[in-house]
Amino acid sequence: MEKNVILSLKNVSKTFPVGKSLLGRPTKFVHAVNDVSFDVYEGETFSIVGESGCGKSTTGRLINHLLIPDSGEIWFQGKEISHISQDEMRPIRKDMQMIFQDPAGSLNPRMRVSELIEEPLLIHTDMSAEERAKIVNNLLKIVGLSDKHASRYPHEFSGGQKQRIGIARALTVNPHLVIADEPISALDVSIQAQVLNLLHKLQEEYKLTYVFISHDLSVVEMISDRIAVMYLGFVVETAPKEMLYKTPLHPYTEALLSAIPQVDADDRTERIHLTGEVPSPSDPPSGCPFHTRCPKACDICSKEIPQLKEIEKGHFVACHLYQ
Ligand code: SF4
Repeated sequence: MEKNVILSLKNVSKTFPVGKSLLGRPTKFVHAVNDVSFDVYEGETFSIVGESGCGKSTTGRLINHLLIPDSGEIWFQGKEISHISQDEMRPIRKDMQMIFQDPAGSLNPRMRVSELIEEPLLIHTDMSAEERAKIVNNLLKIVGLSDKHASRYPHEFSGGQKQRIGIARALTVNPHLVIADEPISALDVSIQAQVLNLLHKLQEEYKLTYVFISHDLSVVEMISDRIAVMYLGFVVETAPKEMLYKTPLHPYTEALLSAIPQVDADDRTERIHLTGEVPSPSDPPSGCPFHTRCPKACDICSKEIPQLKEIEKGHFVACHLYQ
């Protein structure tokens, strides 16, 4: 059956100016996102994974229109949204909500939980106070809290509970797409699995599509249908989860996967130790962005940027070894 594309990024790039000349002009640009393209299908969890600074969170913010790309297109539910105004974005934002990494920082400390959860309803609907209260109480139950929590303030909750409030707030207006940016990385390990299970349960219940952003390949393995691996602002590999974990093609993906601790001795592979630092995104290397650390680099790698190419159905890789 043909799957419906809900979100599509086409050659999206974003730079940020840094430093200033005497005339006030930027002296350098950080190349945060480079020529990124991918599709996200309705009802799936599409994860973006990579080390800190690889551009995954910037990609999430570009999708959510918190940032505007320098070039490229972002299509959501059949509409190109990358350069529309905030006014035009308002009704669309109802269908696209975000869960942030820092649950404490993303909740206004002066608002009660009930106010925090009902705020999107005030912005996007004309529901009565009674209708809103009903939705808030229902959502509190769904995320594992209760109506007695409604009148409390964020500081009265643990990190895991705050993230549950953030999730409830994201779901208030029945979105189709939820962008979850490192939603469990600030939580205790014991709480992480609970929040992941909650996200999974809500996906089935609300028919949600997730863009899940994480640096942690063990977490991504638990929740994803398909995965994009990013390095220095580029997508270097995209594949369905099983394919990526079983037959990674890009040397960077191989190195990331080899670093995951395995309990079962049969699953252990030899760890690939990458040498060298991740280059600065304000001074990226020529050719393949990974060539300065790649154990398989050859002559062409420092000269030409490899293009993302489909090697088998659904499995894309940007590496000269497969061009
Ligand atoms: Fe390594 Fe070359 Fe492939 Fe880049 S293109 S990942 S440097 S082999």
